[in-house]
Amino acid sequence: MHTTIKQANYTFSKDNAPVASVPGGSVVKFESLDALGGQITRENAQDGFKNFDWNAVNPATGPLFVEGAVPGDVLRVEIMDIRLTSDAGVLLTGSALGLCKEFFDDNIARVVDIKGGYVEFSPDIKIPVRPMIGVIGTAPAGEPVNNGTPGEHGGNMDCREIIAGAAVYLPVNVEGALLSMGDVHAAMADGESCGTGAETTAEITVKVDVLKDCVWPTPFVESAEHYMPLASAATADEAISRAVLHGVDFLMTTRGMSRYDAITFISLAADVRICQVVDPLITARVNIPKSLI
Ligand code: CA
Repeated sequence: MHTTIKQANYTFSKDNAPVASVPGGSVVKFESLDALGGQITRENAQDGFKNFDWNAVNPATGPLFVEGAVPGDVLRVEIMDIRLTSDAGVLLTGSALGLCKEFFDDNIARVVDIKGGYVEFSPDIKIPVRPMIGVIGTAPAGEPVNNGTPGEHGGNMDCREIIAGAAVYLPVNVEGALLSMGDVHAAMADGESCGTGAETTAEITVKVDVLKDCVWPTPFVESAEHYMPLASAATADEAISRAVLHGVDFLMTTRGMSRYDAITFISLAADVRICQVVDPLITARVNIPKSLI
């Protein structure tokens, strides 16, 4: 019987009391709310902002205490399954979010159907469902970070590669790591330029492992094809620069490359990608092809 947790919190904080405690190596199911906290529905989407509470956005399920995790370790979170638990996807953009605020006097929500493996964007356009996790992270050692902001602890990175089959590597900053996650999207492109994906609810099944003496930079995502160091910063330039430097660090420490070789290898073979440009800090990644190293 796996542990299942569903309590939501709104910050990554060392002061949040764990809702469950499991040994490293455990499989845990996180039941997650959508990023709007369930406030926008088919019934109220037209006027969903009359009573909208911006303090109730970006809920994350957790935190989970992982026994044996101590500061300096790395927490490996294998995403085993993301099962959508709603047939509704919420889209949102407008004056308060996204890259195109100047076109709107207000915010506009829309609920689309998720059916038969597709997000039904319009009668003519169906977007394949590709469930991904927007918010996943551990508690920082210092001040709490709200769930809307990404950083070195992970958080709201909105990386479309955090899908079933991928593994996320996060820093352990406090005893037990205090892992939380949520903000599942049925579909989202790199950038998340309007401010949301197709926001929905899900059951996320993960396996958590504590890695001792792991020198990989964090946060980091591993897929079948790529090693992906991530970084978040105030500007895209800075986020990209830091993600590349993390990639250089990874290639030097795990593959024994010289700094020169690591820098030039990335330039030749590893795509720089933007995860999202709409959160308080921008997140970038570098896709290092596993097949070449
Ligand atoms: Ca998000």
